[in-house]
Amino acid sequence: MNLSIRLKVTFINTIVLIVCSLILTISTYFSTSKSIDILSDTSKSNLTPSIDQFVSNEDYNKNIVDSGEIPAQTVTEAAKTEKAKLATTSIIYMLAVIGLGCIITYLTTGKSLESVKKLNDEIKDISEYNLSKKIKEHGPNDEIKDLTKSFNNMLGRIDDAFESQKQFSSNVAHELRTPLAVIQMKIDVFKKRKEKASEDYEKLIQVVEKNNNRLSKVVDELLSISNKDNVEFKDKINFNRLIKSVTNELKEVASDKNINIYIDEKIDSDNSKDFYGNEQLLYRALYNLIENSIKYNRDNGYIKIYLNKDNNFINIDIEDSGVGIKEEDYENIFKPFYRVDKSRSRKIGGSGLGLSIVKTIINQHKGNISVESYDSGSKFIIKIPYN
Ligand code: ADP
Repeated sequence: MNLSIRLKVTFINTIVLIVCSLILTISTYFSTSKSIDILSDTSKSNLTPSIDQFVSNEDYNKNIVDSGEIPAQTVTEAAKTEKAKLATTSIIYMLAVIGLGCIITYLTTGKSLESVKKLNDEIKDISEYNLSKKIKEHGPNDEIKDLTKSFNNMLGRIDDAFESQKQFSSNVAHELRTPLAVIQMKIDVFKKRKEKASEDYEKLIQVVEKNNNRLSKVVDELLSISNKDNVEFKDKINFNRLIKSVTNELKEVASDKNINIYIDEKIDSDNSKDFYGNEQLLYRALYNLIENSIKYNRDNGYIKIYLNKDNNFINIDIEDSGVGIKEEDYENIFKPFYRVDKSRSRKIGGSGLGLSIVKTIINQHKGNISVESYDSGSKFIIKIPYN
């Protein structure tokens, strides 16, 4: 039934009122009638012997008329009349109480629902353009105020999500525009040259190739962030082997800076559980982390990788002797496109998406990643639960 809350409350209240009033009226009627019966019986028993005794006695009749006493028959009739009167007045009062109750319920419900109406009107004014607007929390500390608070909290979260989405899109646009602008500029310069030497062609191709690679890398990384769904976690993972194959792939880059990589594996002897996940994604996460530990390391530095399995978790710590990270950036570095030192990171080929991909992958495996930094170097701590 499409009734407003106000009508529903009034309807329910009226039914309750009718039931209560009926019970009250009926019980009052019967108890009062009983009292009338007892009273009339008492009056009759006081009168009856006198009537029987003196029924033909004219003096007696004259006496009771003179004294104002009433005969038993008249008492019974009077009781009946009183009962009928009682029934009529009870019904009239009952109907009056029900009617009045209905009106009062309707009016008070309307008053209490005013704040809901106000809240509804304010919510209607909110659109994607004014998500930062907060709804005023007026009135007493009741459920409506709680609802308003929850709604404001939800608005805040949606606003943050919108903002970070906007920020993400503008970062993507910026990241894609820069290499495109470089290519365009080089082409313009090239076209303006009247005499074109083979060297110029060579240079142009090099610039186009370099920027094209950068564009492809960003697009690949963006796709890997957005393709979060339909991923399967059915590969039996041997973390030791995985780490070794990553370090093997990166050994040339590490040896360019003369960086030593140590792997330390500790496995709880009681633990013979298998871990299932997505090998390709975990490989990518470890690759990004170890590649960063090389990129942001000093020459002749080191990287220590600790692999530790206990009954519930796989723990991987990746420690390096690099530039370190300031505490205020511990959270930020996992955000898409965030780079502590933009120009340096760009120079060494970073897009700022690496750690955000790592975080997405670790979260997809229900794990978490954090970072700690010391005087020299940083340590990335990964904890993934057995599934
Ligand atoms: P990028 O592509 O710039 O490397 P990442 O998302 O991988 O992007 O990293 C974000 C930022 O975090 C980097 O720009 C760098 O400043 C910082 N960072 C990441 N790993 C390390 C590390 N091992 N040591 C010091 N700084 C790091």
